[in-house]
Amino acid sequence: MHAIGLDVGGTSVRAGVVDERGSLLDTARAGTPSDEDALEDAISAVIDELRNRHDEVAAVGLSVAGFVANDRRTVMFAPHLAWRAAPVAERIAKRVGLPVTLEHDANAAALAEHRFGAARGTRVAALIAIGTGIGAGLLLDGEIYRGAHGVAPELGHLTVVPGGRACPCGKYGCWERYCSGTALAATAVELLARHPGVSTVLAREFSRDPGAITGRRVAGAARDGDPIAQRAVAELAKWLGEGLALVADVFDPEIMVIAGGVSESATLFLDEAREHYAGALTGARHRPLARIRTAHLGDDAAIVGAAALAASARESGGARRKV
Ligand SMILES: [Zn+2]
Repeated sequence: MHAIGLDVGGTSVRAGVVDERGSLLDTARAGTPSDEDALEDAISAVIDELRNRHDEVAAVGLSVAGFVANDRRTVMFAPHLAWRAAPVAERIAKRVGLPVTLEHDANAAALAEHRFGAARGTRVAALIAIGTGIGAGLLLDGEIYRGAHGVAPELGHLTVVPGGRACPCGKYGCWERYCSGTALAATAVELLARHPGVSTVLAREFSRDPGAITGRRVAGAARDGDPIAQRAVAELAKWLGEGLALVADVFDPEIMVIAGGVSESATLFLDEAREHYAGALTGARHRPLARIRTAHLGDDAAIVGAAALAASARESGGARRKV
């Protein structure tokens, strides 16, 4: 059975037709409107566009960057989307005439990596998606772990530096403030401010336009040998390792899959992060270490995972039943 998976993000709605092997057969996309009705119109339009080309599609899975209630029908809160306590699954199902399931985007991506990607065949796995912030998903015996109220896990907001950098969540020193694309840029800017005399490519770019220092740019400069950029990347490696040790101390996974835009630069920091991880983990020399690997499915993981969940719900007797 084929299903449509959607990744509804703050800037775009991306959708794809996915088969039972997790292959993406076709895609469509639209911009993300800021009001609720227009957002649901845009979602219905991309679903209709794909169904016009694939009449075998039997279910729809929506993944969103936000809190999804445990009934998988309601988006409770999504910081970059218009929905607030919105019965999204019902509304979209009514518009498109197909069963609709909802899932948090990192959970959907984790499920996709477990079924079709880097975490295949494992029993206990974590996905850590590092981009602008950190998104995370946990899998126990192949099932998504959602917690009592559907909002677990918020690993990006674990406090790693008490009183540290301010986070949009309202706290200080959250993990994602030290380990993300945003963090990489912030660390580079801090280092440049602390060493005003240095003349590296990154320093010259910074003096021309401070806004040009993005995480991607810092990673590129580190690859080119810029010493300030390399120090910023080393900081990210340290905090990635420290954070993974916290995750492993709570969860003891077999594998931790590193996903998200920052993982594209993993060759710059992953070995160093593994060393920090092993150094920070409780009793590291006396226990098996989780494997730390990069994701296989890239940007499409949430689409593939949402479609797989929709297909499973459909096969198990309807989208209203718990997946
Ligand atoms: Zn935070």
